[in-house]
Amino acid sequence: MPELPEVETIRLGLKKAIVGKTIAGVDVRVPKLFHGDKKSIIGKKVLDVGRRAKQIIIDVEGDNDLLIHLKMTGQLIYRPKQESGVASHGQIAGGHPSKDWTAVLPNGTTHIIFDFSDGSKLFFNDLRKFGWIKIFEAKELKHKLTEELGVEPFDKEFTTDELAKIISKKSNWNIKKILTDQTLISGIGNIYADESLFWAGILPTRIAKTIKYDEVLRLHTSIIKALQIGLKYGGSSENTYYKIDGAKGQAQEHFQVYAQEGKKCKRCGGVIQKIKLNGRGTHFCPGCQK
Ligand SMILES: [Zn+2]
Repeated sequence: MPELPEVETIRLGLKKAIVGKTIAGVDVRVPKLFHGDKKSIIGKKVLDVGRRAKQIIIDVEGDNDLLIHLKMTGQLIYRPKQESGVASHGQIAGGHPSKDWTAVLPNGTTHIIFDFSDGSKLFFNDLRKFGWIKIFEAKELKHKLTEELGVEPFDKEFTTDELAKIISKKSNWNIKKILTDQTLISGIGNIYADESLFWAGILPTRIAKTIKYDEVLRLHTSIIKALQIGLKYGGSSENTYYKIDGAKGQAQEHFQVYAQEGKKCKRCGGVIQKIKLNGRGTHFCPGCQK
């Protein structure tokens, strides 16, 4: 699952690529991955590319917008107008690290193709077909996202007091479960939950009600710090994420605990542990985290 820094990196690339372009056609090859009437966006201009949690919002002229979820293996590959379907200079979109980067597109994993009036194309590929694209009425979309998703870590509403309030509402949950519940805080997944808790010096297994206010303060700062490191290095490409311009994300080289099990802690020299918590691989340093 791509996390917030990965999706934000893809969003920024896509924004540069398609804002101002008119959607000339939408070729839906696998109908179950596309919801809504494509006619409602054809002939309309792309006004903006936004993000809410790990979903990409394409703001289209008129009443309807597009919501994209890449799920596990989704890819967005943008290619400027060209003679063949092969990658060339000027390709500024990408997806997961497969040969699709240089292969002829569309191919067997291409399920949806957007044609722009300048001849460029945006391909939505997805090996496992868990991702999707949906058309929403703009107001309905705003309402839906507000209902379903908690506060964004980079929004000004995400204060230390807000985090303390969220933690107090789930007093019997372990702290990692709270951080990764998208209805409470949106956009923190497995990787950045582990990294945030390391920076905060809090064990992922700690029960919410045992966490003191000074720890909440540290956790708040640490969430922002962990996500900013992710953004700075273009997100993680450890699993299946590439930046939209094709460069590999470098964030994983800066991880303190995630996927570092058995290695020495960069801070205390202790050994990073891995356990299963809430059904997910969970990493921590027993020396630095209490
Ligand atoms: Zn340590």
